[in-house]
Amino acid sequence: MIQRRALLPGALAVCLLAPAVLAAQVHKPAPPKTPRLYVFDCGAIKGLSPATFGFTKEQLATTDFAVTCYLIAHPKGTLMWDVGVVPDSAFKGDGAPVTQGPSTVTKPLKPQLAAIGYTPADINYLALSHYHSDHTANANDFAGATWIVEQAERDAMFADKPANIMQGPSFSALKNSKTVVLHGEDYDVFGDGTVVLKSAPGHTPGHQVLFLKLAKTGPLLLAGDLYHYAEERFTDKVPTFEFNKEQSLASRAKVEEFLKKSGAQLWIEHDYLLHAKLKKSPEYYE
Ligand SMILES: [Zn+2]
Repeated sequence: MIQRRALLPGALAVCLLAPAVLAAQVHKPAPPKTPRLYVFDCGAIKGLSPATFGFTKEQLATTDFAVTCYLIAHPKGTLMWDVGVVPDSAFKGDGAPVTQGPSTVTKPLKPQLAAIGYTPADINYLALSHYHSDHTANANDFAGATWIVEQAERDAMFADKPANIMQGPSFSALKNSKTVVLHGEDYDVFGDGTVVLKSAPGHTPGHQVLFLKLAKTGPLLLAGDLYHYAEERFTDKVPTFEFNKEQSLASRAKVEEFLKKSGAQLWIEHDYLLHAKLKKSPEYYE
């Protein structure tokens, strides 16, 4: 028996290897010719109190939040933007959804990435709109990427006294990541103006938004939590837990001005109805 095994041709021996080994052999996709935006379903948050956001139930189409994660695949590299509310490690591998408090997630993030050929090791840059726990769940998986963060945000994330709505353990590994620290300036990630981080503080001390210039879709702004509901736009309503309300309103005014000037569409990340309409990975926007 041992002798026959030793005589197995190499190709057949590879076929007998465990699936995990084969998965490790998957190569990341060739870089696209123009930037692509992949939208991942990272769950939903239900049962929120509209009063927390300055609304009555009747004033909102729905109080539910979508939770969205994004990958930008650019000819020169990759950027993850926001990484979910429930970590992949909370899934039991039985296909069942995971509920933590008001959040329910049906699909872990890494298998969604793997379905389009990427592993966390293929990700060059990580940027979070902000440190709230519904945006950071899988951050440690991307600690090998270069983290792009505002100084004020990073300071709050690693302060002795943790900020509100923060899960420090979810991003603790970023402390030692290669880091680009920003001080309110725009950051053109790949140097060609197609993927640009813009400071929009207030919701948190170093909240940021992401501008994309896509060849077919056109200019697009991923708003982080600059707004939570479509109905919030053009009001002075901000959540009760806002870090600095005046700063938020100033950031909104600045971003609205930019949207007018650039002609960019605005995607509010938690907008449940918008999210339901978006193409999800493996489809993409280009
Ligand atoms: Zn938030």
